[in-house]
Amino acid sequence: MTDIATQFAGPVLTPDDTGYADEVAGFQTAYTHRPALVVGARHAEDVRAAVEFAARQGLPVAVQATGHGLSVAVDGGVLVTTGRMDAITVDPQARTARIGAGVRAGALVEAAARYGLAPLNGSSPSVGVVGYVLGGGLGLLAREFGYAADHVRSLELVTADGRRRTLTPGDELFGAVLGSGGNFGVVTELELDLVPVAEIYGGQLVFDAPLVDAALETWRTWTATVPSELTSTIAVVTYPDIPAVPESLRGRHVASIRIAFDGPQEEGERWAAPLRQIGPRLRDDLRTMPYAESHTIHSDPPFPHAYAATNALLAELTPQGLSALRALTAPGGRVDAVIDIRHLGAALRHGGPASIDHRDAEYIVRVITDPGDGDAAPDSLAAVREALAPWTIGHSLAFLYGAGGAADAAQTAAGYAPDTYRWLAAAKAKYDPRNMFRANRNIAPAD
Ligand SMILES: Cc1cc2nc3c(=O)[nH]c(=O)nc-3n(C[C@H](O)[C@H](O)[C@H](O)COP(=O)(O)OP(=O)(O)OC[C@H]3O[C@@H](n4cnc5c(N)ncnc54)[C@H](O)[C@@H]3O)c2cc1C
Repeated sequence: MTDIATQFAGPVLTPDDTGYADEVAGFQTAYTHRPALVVGARHAEDVRAAVEFAARQGLPVAVQATGHGLSVAVDGGVLVTTGRMDAITVDPQARTARIGAGVRAGALVEAAARYGLAPLNGSSPSVGVVGYVLGGGLGLLAREFGYAADHVRSLELVTADGRRRTLTPGDELFGAVLGSGGNFGVVTELELDLVPVAEIYGGQLVFDAPLVDAALETWRTWTATVPSELTSTIAVVTYPDIPAVPESLRGRHVASIRIAFDGPQEEGERWAAPLRQIGPRLRDDLRTMPYAESHTIHSDPPFPHAYAATNALLAELTPQGLSALRALTAPGGRVDAVIDIRHLGAALRHGGPASIDHRDAEYIVRVITDPGDGDAAPDSLAAVREALAPWTIGHSLAFLYGAGGAADAAQTAAGYAPDTYRWLAAAKAKYDPRNMFRANRNIAPAD
């Protein structure tokens, strides 16, 4: 098959070729794509040629920028890797950035910071911007600016018919693509809004085991008081006792409150005061920082690893909901997992072009655990979903990690309101009737 390689500027590899394993590897290590052919695209024309080739052969097409969001691995089809498409152009007057499909959040943050601007990026600098935006994009300042997917000016897409299309708000596919992962084709370029944020106040407050329940309860009531300029998360983590973990946290069960506030230091300190009253902190690095340091707020693990996760979007976070969660996940409980609850609401409630539902959610509870050996989602994740069911209004597809049961049709449908799902399935039947783009949280074409 590699005699077609001359059509491409980037490498084209089959499983027997040197470099294949590195090309398909990603951040998620529990499983990987096993394509018959991987195309390391250098530009949009490579992507178009790869899709056209797959269409002629009747093969599925998967896309990978970084592998952070790998859901369904392609087996025997074509994988397009986009890491080489890493161009960034910032227009400081228009406050926009034009980015290639392989750009990571950290690179965009740095490029925008040169002009005192910031993208609407999330917690980890190594996540791919396009995959993040196509999943909605819940950013560090999400309550102030809303979903990143609602701040796209235009996008370039290669569809199943091998056509390169430019889409702008108002085009039928524009809203369908934004919010539905890679279901409608391969995005080769995005033009995004930047916001005038050069500095933020934020960081982490970490409380040791005896204060975890107090931290959860204080954070719960405190979130009802804060302005939209303040977005925060509380994580409950049991750190392993290994050298990769800072000494002060090794082996400890802690609650970590992460804050991002777009406002002056004095005001940030005032908002943080009730949280500091919870008690002594193992870590307290709240400060005014250049936006380029904002990746330190969550300090997500930078190294590839295996993980599975589920989540629940909640209309409210009640003491009963927190108790149900703690009963399962406190040390010695049935579920050994990192719990991460993000405060939503404010600008996230506003409608926008992207196909994102459940916008009235006030919180998202994320539960991240070891995926185990099997292909099925760990039972522990199902137990958490069940425990939170009375308060759950839906699920976020961006924060479902893992294969098998975590990526099945029912879980994908639960990411959308029924009308939105029907509309997306109809669009899928029109633009990808053979479901070529199915190695993802798949929306099957309507009959
Ligand atoms: C450590 C970590 C932190 C995270 N933090 C946040 C956060 O703060 N906020 C948030 O909203 N999400 C967050 N996420 C979720 C993340 O946004 C999704 O996992 C996203 O899909 C990752 O995109 P990627 O390109 O990096 O991953 P990949 O695995 O490369 O891609 C994931 C999927 O996106 C689609 N895709 C990627 N590129 C293209 C393309 N060019 N064209 C069409 N489809 C494409 C494909 O369906 C692909 O399977 C986080 C994930 C991790 C692992």
